[in-house]
Amino acid sequence: MRVIKRIAVLTSGGDAPGMNSAIRAVTRCALAQEWDVLGVRRGYAGLVEDEVEPLTGRSVSNIMQCGGTVLGSARCPEFEAEPTRRQALRNLQQNRIDALVVIGGNGSQTGALALAEMGLPVVGVASTIDNDLAGSEVTIGVDTALNIALEAIDRLKTTASSHQRAFLVEVMGRKCGYLALMAGLAGGAEIVVIPERETSPAEVARQLRAAYERGKRHALAVVAEGALYDAAKLDAWFREHAGQVGFDTRTTTLGHVQRGGTPTAFDRLLGARLGAGAVAALTRGEQGVLVGLNEGKVTTTPLTEVVGVPKIVDPELFRLASVLEK
Ligand code: ADP
Repeated sequence: MRVIKRIAVLTSGGDAPGMNSAIRAVTRCALAQEWDVLGVRRGYAGLVEDEVEPLTGRSVSNIMQCGGTVLGSARCPEFEAEPTRRQALRNLQQNRIDALVVIGGNGSQTGALALAEMGLPVVGVASTIDNDLAGSEVTIGVDTALNIALEAIDRLKTTASSHQRAFLVEVMGRKCGYLALMAGLAGGAEIVVIPERETSPAEVARQLRAAYERGKRHALAVVAEGALYDAAKLDAWFREHAGQVGFDTRTTTLGHVQRGGTPTAFDRLLGARLGAGAVAALTRGEQGVLVGLNEGKVTTTPLTEVVGVPKIVDPELFRLASVLEK
């Protein structure tokens, strides 16, 4: 087993509230093992450009309550090419780094696996607001994003009631409907449209109209950005088929507003637990794994069982949504 003296940590891909808590935990737990810690700026882009700085117990103080990531993040498509990753490995070697912690989502963990397959000891930390990463039931950032979506939904319902309107609210999640389904369940939507359970525009209109006929003052459809009929397409369909919904309709796309904001207690604690879990995994000699939360426990799953594996949304939640939508 390789003796670890110095590690690097980076955040990559879409930023997620709670990443800072994970950076802090990785740093402080590693320092407690008497390892040196380097922070890599701007994800894989910084790894290739050799943008690193030493992290100390003090440099990660007072960051836990901040959204985003103090290390910065970036998309770095060049990292998919092996020569670019070789350059990154050379930089790591020059900096005498024995292991790397990658805090990020699906794409970032694909990059982490590619590095692991080239011989670098890597541990991933599950972090994305989309919750589309296998190997962790819930990822860092999801809870905050969900709470932000809910706050917006609650506000929209107030104004919708005053004007007897239906609102189409589009939430993030890439190809995964988890955020939309949970926001719909917790926000009391009349219908949820997600990629895992496509719904025709006529069906959405039928559900909203049924709410109108039951005498409701407002109605809400929550739509995942990855759905075939996203909010813009549904909106266009409603305009072409005026009168089918009953309500006057309005569309709101929450977009990047869901990423910002103060991390919730849940995301701070998850960041702390998973960050600590990454250092613990390296201490045990584990590498090429993703640290996640499963059945309430911090777990490690081989990255080979995570990358390219679709995350299934619990069918029980679909059933619950269809009962409560009535
Ligand atoms: P997220 O990690 O939030 O899913 P992205 O999908 O944008 O975000 O991926 C983040 C970064 O991970 C990419 O910009 C790229 O540098 C790296 N990455 C993604 N796919 C691969 C791949 N197949 N091989 C190597 N690196 C990858």
